[in-house]
Amino acid sequence: MSAPSTRFAFFGDRIAPIAEATVSVMTHALHYGTAVFGGMRGYWNAEQEQLYVFRPHDHFTRFLQSGKLLRMPLAYTPAGLTEIVSALLRAEGFRENCYIRPLAYISEPTISVRVHDLASAVTIFAMPFGSYIANEEGAHVAFSAWRRVDDNAIPARGKIAGAYVNSALSSTDVRLAGYDEALVLNDDGHVSEMSSANFFIVRDGVAITPPVQSNVLEGIVRRSVIQLLRDELGVSVLERNIDRSEVYLADESFMCGTGVQIAAITRIEHRAIGSGSMGDITTRLRDLFFDVVAGKVERYRSWLVPVYT
Ligand code: PMP
Repeated sequence: MSAPSTRFAFFGDRIAPIAEATVSVMTHALHYGTAVFGGMRGYWNAEQEQLYVFRPHDHFTRFLQSGKLLRMPLAYTPAGLTEIVSALLRAEGFRENCYIRPLAYISEPTISVRVHDLASAVTIFAMPFGSYIANEEGAHVAFSAWRRVDDNAIPARGKIAGAYVNSALSSTDVRLAGYDEALVLNDDGHVSEMSSANFFIVRDGVAITPPVQSNVLEGIVRRSVIQLLRDELGVSVLERNIDRSEVYLADESFMCGTGVQIAAITRIEHRAIGSGSMGDITTRLRDLFFDVVAGKVERYRSWLVPVYT
């Protein structure tokens, strides 16, 4: 995922040319993974000539909480960071869907394995962005042999850079084996989430997703999906443990997150899920979601921050 169209970054407390946004090889975060990040999307609405950032306040609240888990003294607010993102996107002038990446990292050039009393910095950049996975309407997934990192090892509800070694190992393993994405189990054998997305199944018309205590990232799209299913589609949602065998027996399944958006899972380890093609609830949810993020559903406009005035 190169970023040829990225011209600027928020760096050193100003919007700077991307070429100036560089760090030393001695940076603590580069050695120890002591950084936290976010990932949000901007959706271009051509009719309205507007770029909408999806739930930036919620993303930045989680971003600052992730920083808190790493004892980072970040002197920002969600509102302030949202203004910075708007200014950055206006500078880029994007008139297409894009991805926004905030990063807070321990910036000191220090050889010391600790997180306290160290300086940190925040940077943000953005790039045009389309699909994250190839088969959004029919992904073929497999269980990874790597277990999900436990909250007592690295805080799972924080988006902590070092923890993504776990995600990368899981994803690479199954993708090299020919699948689209990895489903990851907790140490107790229950389903946690995808390598970088949350996970749902549908059984007998009820949507089921692992609870927030199962080492999942508390996804902003997961939260949105639960609300849309309940309030708009009249589908009950259960947050409870999911056994491995329930996935094989599910009627429908999908993954959700900022990158994957809502992607149907139609096969697991060469077994069809349900009919083997995208199910009715997943189809309706995706259609609604894409309308919501593009600013086409008035009721959910409060989830969006327009970039252009
Ligand atoms: N779980 C993991 C491990 C992730 O990396 C992501 C992507 N941020 C998600 C879930 C989905 O989170 P969100 O909906 O906030 O993007």
